[in-house]
Amino acid sequence: MMKFVAGVDIGNATTEVALAKIEGKEIQFLASGIGPTTGIKGTLNNINGVFLSLKQALNKLGLDYSDLDEIRINEAAPVIGDVAMETISETIITESTVIGHNPSTPGGTGIGVGTSTLVTEISRITGEQDIIAIVPSDVDFAHAAELMNSAKKGVNVVGAIVQSDEGNLINHRLKRQIPVIDEVTMIEKVPLGMECAIEVAPIGSVVSVLSNPYGIATLFSLSSEETKRVVPIARSLIGTRSGVVIKTPEGDVKERSIKAGTITIIGAKKEIEVDVDEGAERIMEGVSSILDIEDIQGEVGTNAGNMLDKVRRVMANLTEKHKKDIKIQDLLAVDTFNPQKVKGGIADEFSLENAVGIAAMVKSDRLQMEMIAQVLTEKLRVPVFVGGVEADMAIKGALTTPGTNTPLAIVDMGAGSTDASIINREGKVKLIHLAGAGNMVSLLIQSELGLDDFEMAEDIKKYPLALVESLFHIRHEDGTAQFFEKPLDSSVFAKVVLVKENDELVPLEGVESMEKVRQVRMEAKRKVFVTNAVRSLSKVSPTGNPRDIQFVVMVGGSALDFEIPNMVTDALSEYEIVAGRGNIRGCEGPRNAVATGLAMACLEEE
Ligand code: ADP
Ligand code: MG
Repeated sequence: MMKFVAGVDIGNATTEVALAKIEGKEIQFLASGIGPTTGIKGTLNNINGVFLSLKQALNKLGLDYSDLDEIRINEAAPVIGDVAMETISETIITESTVIGHNPSTPGGTGIGVGTSTLVTEISRITGEQDIIAIVPSDVDFAHAAELMNSAKKGVNVVGAIVQSDEGNLINHRLKRQIPVIDEVTMIEKVPLGMECAIEVAPIGSVVSVLSNPYGIATLFSLSSEETKRVVPIARSLIGTRSGVVIKTPEGDVKERSIKAGTITIIGAKKEIEVDVDEGAERIMEGVSSILDIEDIQGEVGTNAGNMLDKVRRVMANLTEKHKKDIKIQDLLAVDTFNPQKVKGGIADEFSLENAVGIAAMVKSDRLQMEMIAQVLTEKLRVPVFVGGVEADMAIKGALTTPGTNTPLAIVDMGAGSTDASIINREGKVKLIHLAGAGNMVSLLIQSELGLDDFEMAEDIKKYPLALVESLFHIRHEDGTAQFFEKPLDSSVFAKVVLVKENDELVPLEGVESMEKVRQVRMEAKRKVFVTNAVRSLSKVSPTGNPRDIQFVVMVGGSALDFEIPNMVTDALSEYEIVAGRGNIRGCEGPRNAVATGLAMACLEEE
């Protein structure tokens, strides 16, 4: 007897469908469908997405829902709670020694070193001296320029710090162009009579001398001890277009760690408590030292506690369970940076503070999916079954990749979780679901680059970069140049851009440099996927050691990434593992593994 079956994989991000015809012991795949998941995975809201993806696949064959004999949906084992950020350091300026900010229109470029002097006091200076003019807003730009131009011989005005935003207006009236930093709101806090260095970078670049401890040391002739102390100053100026450093006797920039609370990882036999401010590595040591995690809790009243509590609350609402019955099963912590306002700053300076990003995962249960199956059965009038755990189905699907055989391990890199499973020669499967995947990568990119928009971070993750060097050519991030016959749109000139399909160039506004964006992007991918690949394979390895696995196939949406599979292949080669991107059924690439496996499961029960 012949029957039409559909495997439907409801993921955190994507709902995928595989349609097949089963005749006796033969299965023939006919079409696939793909669409966004509607609502949070494992909830009834998913049903719309299932309809759409199914319909898409059926349309390719001219079939309707009613032609289907059976549908299998995934068990959706894990539901991801949340990814969140916890800032664990802050920069405090105890005396005004540093101003690094990005006024929209600083004047001039270059470096000036001199004594900070009120512009109205310049005429009183006698003798030879280099000075930095301090211009409060009650002195208008024309008057300020006049005062600076009429300095006595030997008195060199080498730079200016201006309260208003009239830096350029002043500069245009000067006999000699100097670096000018404006929009310094709390100019009264700038100490006078002190040695002061000012740097303005050309348009499109960032300061290079003041962001380098040795640069500051050179300007101020610092000893090696003093140089050590300016490291936080240099760090807080990294990536700004302009900056000022003032050498005051007591001036100091301190980096302080913020108490962030503790996380407790609870296992059957023991529990471990880790301070969040000790960083991601310590947290992950804790997580990996407990083999069967029963729950993970955060200290009540701290940010860590609130974050994990939020995960629990959201899940409790969705599943109509009590909050205390929601258990967190895995957690991925990574070290990251988070731009924060500098305390004690005088021009709304930002500094990249240390932070810990956390993805948490909650165990959900089969009941949820049974509910979805029931509603689907009623609406479609086709029997719908919960067909099996994702990682189990994924490995069945992955084995359709040409050239694969058992024993085999897979890593399924999705949006919310990284799942791994391994199948031995006898067909026994072992699997694990870990927190942290594509969404976490995008979140890290978003927060480290200070982007408002998650979608922008998703795009930065997915597309390579280039710099538009002229209206007729761009420089790709790998160094190659590409030329165009027709001029590019002038709005992208001199910008860092994303290179999308068909040479569509999307400018990135407000980013420092191509190098910086590239570094953040690649690090985020490494921190999440290399970490999770190794972590997950250790867990499914028969011996607990990833070295005892030989072949790994990567599947899932994040395996489509232009660099993640290579990073993982590289990292796993250190364990002598052969790893590569899957090609489901020889035609789907790394997608559709779970859906394919679900359809195949119908065959086995024939
Ligand atoms: P899920 O099974 O959780 O629904 P998917 O397997 O659909 O997840 O993978 C979704 C993830 O894959 C998202 O994080 C998305 O950003 C990422 N992704 C999709 N396409 C690409 C691509 N071309 N390059 C990089 N990442 C991608
Ligand atoms: Mg998936």
